[in-house]
Amino acid sequence: MIIDCHGHYTTAPAPHQAYREAQLAAHTAGQPLPAPKTISDEEIRESIEQNQLRLLRERGADMTIFSPRASAMAHHAGDEAVSGQWTAACNNLIKRVVDLYPETFIGVCQLPQSPGVSIANSVAELERCVNQLGFVGCNLNPDPSGGHWTSAPLTDRNWYPLFEKMVELDVPAMVHVSGSCNANFHATGAHYINADTTAFMQFIEGDLFRDFPALRFIIPHGGGAVPYHWGRYRGLADMLKRPPLAEHVMKNVFFDTCVYHQPGIDLLFRVIDINNILFGSEMVGAVRGIDPETGQYFDDTKRYIDALRLSDDDRYKVYEGNARRVYPRLDALLKERGQ
Ligand SMILES: [Zn+2]
Repeated sequence: MIIDCHGHYTTAPAPHQAYREAQLAAHTAGQPLPAPKTISDEEIRESIEQNQLRLLRERGADMTIFSPRASAMAHHAGDEAVSGQWTAACNNLIKRVVDLYPETFIGVCQLPQSPGVSIANSVAELERCVNQLGFVGCNLNPDPSGGHWTSAPLTDRNWYPLFEKMVELDVPAMVHVSGSCNANFHATGAHYINADTTAFMQFIEGDLFRDFPALRFIIPHGGGAVPYHWGRYRGLADMLKRPPLAEHVMKNVFFDTCVYHQPGIDLLFRVIDINNILFGSEMVGAVRGIDPETGQYFDDTKRYIDALRLSDDDRYKVYEGNARRVYPRLDALLKERGQ
């Protein structure tokens, strides 16, 4: 089967965004926060069937690891209470999609982060989503300030309460920033790719995986600038007296295939070990148009991988096997279903 590890509910029904706007307005006005608006199953079906489900089938994938819209997490907006309520509403909506299409979608949660607030306060929502909603992972924002980078690096002990819970629950995190409120950084064009690259360098500098040998991260968007600059990172590891990347970082870090042209995918597969690459498209997401050079959608990443002519074994790893290994709760669920 073909598992897309990177999909967001970017097409959520309009009342969901209306709720968010009402929530932020109430916070600004110092009024009590409103409750989420009612959304019918029909509205959810319509938003999914015309978009993610249609494209998934047209492009030939079977399943998407599905999480709330990343750019709308906006952890910098409001305060801890605002972030907590918004996060719960977003995660509950993902659960409803999974319940309507259990064969096609499996949930990953956003976390109720807030600048300056301990990540320990996010642990309860992770537990709720995994233990009660059946989710198999989370999205972790390394910069809840939205482009000002006021948090400590991911290797800092401040993050450890979440990492301890991730290891206990055996779930990975996709390192995923949200919107940018810094005009220097376009959200999906600069802030996302910067964050991917930044997280990788933090992992090189730190010793996180010595403390947490079982901790797993997916760095999306093809690993940011990392594969293209692989020699730089290997060289920096050497200069910083770190062990080789294969043992220092790459037992715990995986890249997706959200690179929207063939030469980028060619380079990713040439540079990064096949065991560290998970198929992903981030569809429907940041880049929705058709590439005039190819006549195909930029984010139809399966085409680029199919063009590589991988061995059957390598194809299996990228499309299915690696995802089952990184998301063992998904693997267990599929096995329960005889898949
Ligand atoms: Zn994403």
